[in-house]
Parts: sequence; structure tokens; C-alpha cells
Amino acid sequence: MQPRSIRKISPLEIEIEWNDAHRSRFTLKQLRHICPCAGCQGEDILLHHVPPAQKTNSPEQYNLNEINQVGSYAVQITWGDGHNAGIYTWNYLSDNCSCEVCSSKRSELNFKN
Ligand SMILES: [Zn+2]
Ligand SMILES: [Zn+2]
Repeated sequence: MQPRSIRKISPLEIEIEWNDAHRSRFTLKQLRHICPCAGCQGEDILLHHVPPAQKTNSPEQYNLNEINQVGSYAVQITWGDGHNAGIYTWNYLSDNCSCEVCSSKRSELNFKN
């Protein structure tokens, strides 16, 4: 899965259009909460699907300063508080898509397991 485009659709939301025409929307808050860096997720990411609450709570942490593409597989996001350790791979982003189609696919998978 590769994105065709990533754009900001509102001050608080981005939309990723994938090469299969699927669209994933993420609020900036959501994106910050799923920050995949070790500092934010620790080892919990291996055990839980729901990310732990953030320790810091400054409003800037949800401001998106920059999105930079990393190679051909990911983007790096720089947040308003300077945090930029999270590398969001395409797989990670599509795994976290919260649209109805993806949510129901995920619950089917869980059911089979
Ligand atoms: Zn992080
Ligand atoms: Zn989806």
C-alpha cells in the first residue's frame, strides 16, 4: 500500500489517499496519540492496540509543523512541541485507519483469531 497523496483537509485533520483509492482520515490528535516512537509507545505497542495516554499535555503537541517523507515507505511528522521521533510507515497508517470499512475488516480478523 502506497499513498497517492497526503493533504491537510482542515486545520485539525489530514487525509491520505492510497493507491487503491481508499481514503484514510486522521485527526492530528489521533496521529499524535499513535506516534510510533519508543518514547511514546514504549513496549506497549507490542501488547495493546490502544496507545497509552500522553504524559505531557501542552496544546502545541497537536500542532503539525511538518510532514517529511522518509524513503518510499514512511513519513516523519514534526509536532509543535518539537517532537519528531515518530516514523509513520504506510502500513502503520493504514493499520490505524479508523473508517468503517477498515474497522469492520479488523473485527473480522479478530473474530477469526
Ligand atoms: Zn513519539
Ligand atoms: Zn479505511
